[in-house]
Amino acid sequence: MNSPQKPTTVVDDVVVSIDYSLTVDGEVVDASEENEPLEYLQGYQNVIPGLESQMVGMKIGESKEVLVNPRDGYGEVDPEAFVEVPKSEFPKGFDLKPGVDLQLQDQDGELVNAVIVSVTGNKVKLDLNHPLAGKELLFRVTVTDLREATEEELAHGHVHGDDFDEEEFDEDELFDEEDEDEEEEQEENDIHR
Ligand code: ZN
Repeated sequence: MNSPQKPTTVVDDVVVSIDYSLTVDGEVVDASEENEPLEYLQGYQNVIPGLESQMVGMKIGESKEVLVNPRDGYGEVDPEAFVEVPKSEFPKGFDLKPGVDLQLQDQDGELVNAVIVSVTGNKVKLDLNHPLAGKELLFRVTVTDLREATEEELAHGHVHGDDFDEEEFDEDELFDEEDEDEEEEQEENDIHR
């Protein structure tokens, strides 16, 4: 491995720290905490693709506004992602009103977020799209730091950070190793096909 040198610009495989805010329809919907920048690994789709591509070449201290179209953000609104569910499927006393958020379980037991669009007669119409689907995303970002990723971070494809306490860190490692085993098994299957 080359001698570790502090990176000077955002390129793939570099850990990037950013202060950021996300504005949608003129409203700030997400932002990093003061003095707690978000750390992510550039080039591994840890952040929205439309943002990641615009980060390339930025330097420490540099700020930028990045406007991301829906296609490079949370996707267009999928007209197929609306479903009608009979009222009887909801628990008694459930607040069946347009705009109410809820979670459904799909066939695999995965939780899916949904919003009630309308309630007509016996039917409840749900929107399963991501709440930010179809939206333009305006990011305001400032690069606060850059550093080389560790080999382990590169292997995992994400940042580990140095502000975990030891226990949390161990849990994180355990979790990742399980993930990795699954991935490795899949890769093996691919190779033997
Ligand atoms: Zn990891």
